Amino acid sequence: MSDIKKIIAIGKELEELDVQHTELTWVLYTTGFDFGVDAINKKITQVYENKKYYDAILNCQKKKLDLLDKRRVDIIARAFKPYHLSKELAQLDLKIKKKENQLMKILNQYRYNIEGREVRSTDIYQILKTAPDRKLRKKVYLARAQINQLMIKTGFLDLIKMRCDYAQGYGVNNFIEYRLEQEELTSAIFDEWVNEVRKVIPKIREMQAIYGEKYIGDPVTKPWDHQYIGAQIASQLNSTVDMSNFYNILKTTFLAFGFDLSKYNITFDIFPRRNKSEWCYIFPVQKGRDVRVLANVGNRYHEYFALLHETGHGLHFLLLDPKDILLNMGISGIIMEGFAMLWNDLLYEKIFYKQFVEDDLSTIDNDFTKLKTRQRIHRITLIFTILFEFDFYRNKLNSLTDINNLYWKRYEELFNREPYTDNPPWAYIPHYTMAPIHIHQGSMGDITNDMLRHCFEKVSGVTSYLEKPREFGRFVFEKVIKPSGAYPYLELFKRISGEPFSLKYFTED
Ligand SMILES: [Zn+2]
Repeated sequence: MSDIKKIIAIGKELEELDVQHTELTWVLYTTGFDFGVDAINKKITQVYENKKYYDAILNCQKKKLDLLDKRRVDIIARAFKPYHLSKELAQLDLKIKKKENQLMKILNQYRYNIEGREVRSTDIYQILKTAPDRKLRKKVYLARAQINQLMIKTGFLDLIKMRCDYAQGYGVNNFIEYRLEQEELTSAIFDEWVNEVRKVIPKIREMQAIYGEKYIGDPVTKPWDHQYIGAQIASQLNSTVDMSNFYNILKTTFLAFGFDLSKYNITFDIFPRRNKSEWCYIFPVQKGRDVRVLANVGNRYHEYFALLHETGHGLHFLLLDPKDILLNMGISGIIMEGFAMLWNDLLYEKIFYKQFVEDDLSTIDNDFTKLKTRQRIHRITLIFTILFEFDFYRNKLNSLTDINNLYWKRYEELFNREPYTDNPPWAYIPHYTMAPIHIHQGSMGDITNDMLRHCFEKVSGVTSYLEKPREFGRFVFEKVIKPSGAYPYLELFKRISGEPFSLKYFTED
């Protein structure tokens, strides 16, 4: 067998186990029956730990290969590498995972206390969105900080420290670089972000003042006003819809872009029931062949957001060539998130909502346009959560006060505003615990989409990509989906846009 064929065979072995793993988790998440998830996880780890395999991969990496084969081998080598570092690092990795799980249990089970009453995270979200009482919204918003001290007490700072040690043992400068290397990104792309955000702040303030004045009678809005105002602008998001017809709605929507869902093997399980997981997921059982969507929706229009998003993920996986297992392993998380977001963005577009509104479309059109414009300007503030997390790994931290001080330092630097409390809410964000240095994927996916729409509009001479949805579908397939495993994210971005990645699309109109 030639060298590369041997490596492809290893990829196949991994994929077969992965199919079993995804089928088992699908059953577990949809019914609660566990037919052996742990056992299959163990088998997968054994393949990664196989020293002969890793040697063969490293050997093949040294051979002269054509560009795509080289990429295939590099992708699998990167996946194997963490399993072949020193014994100490492997042990540290286990300790990190244990700490993550311990902290996640606290996050999942913690109940906030507001005026002696226990409230869940979902209740907080609901109150922030709907309560006209501003004092109550403030109280609820700040209540999320109640978990900070408990997370510190249970070892959040130890977790940060262990991750820093791991990165050092791995041979990079810090944990941020370690995570970014795995994603084929460099920290240099974030260098200009602070300045870029500061440039947009006056525009954000101006917009906030208009809506603040209109909906809460105060031009200076606070973080606890943001969601309430959004819900006021477009109340249609909360209107009831008949979800029994969801498949036809999705099919019609995707068909407008040239993608016929009925030609693919895609399964939906979208209504809540006992023993089923409460969140939304995509299960790519086998890329290019079998994809399943898990969701939990009721009867509200905004719930289509999740359905469109997960179906978008599903379509991406179904459009891949099932035979090219190794390249498929190398698709950037940013590209995956971006492609899914292209679809959930349609929630506010006529091409989608016209399926629900029988009479005059002008009111909804008007309200959604306002909402979109506001969201577009506002999304850059998300960069705070990204840069604040970077600070965890660049500073020595000994106490909750240390982290809170970092929070306000960043906050003042980006937004030029004073602290509004001693203990700001941050530890409630699960990514910091479970998926470190990960939040940028959403923002960068969003930027990628802006770039795609912009490039398409330019080459096809339209003002909106929605004038030619079918052509846009083909454009995205050719430019993004087809080559998505073949290049690292930054290279793919540059190939499509002709320019290096930047926040440009976030800061320009
Ligand atoms: Zn997603």
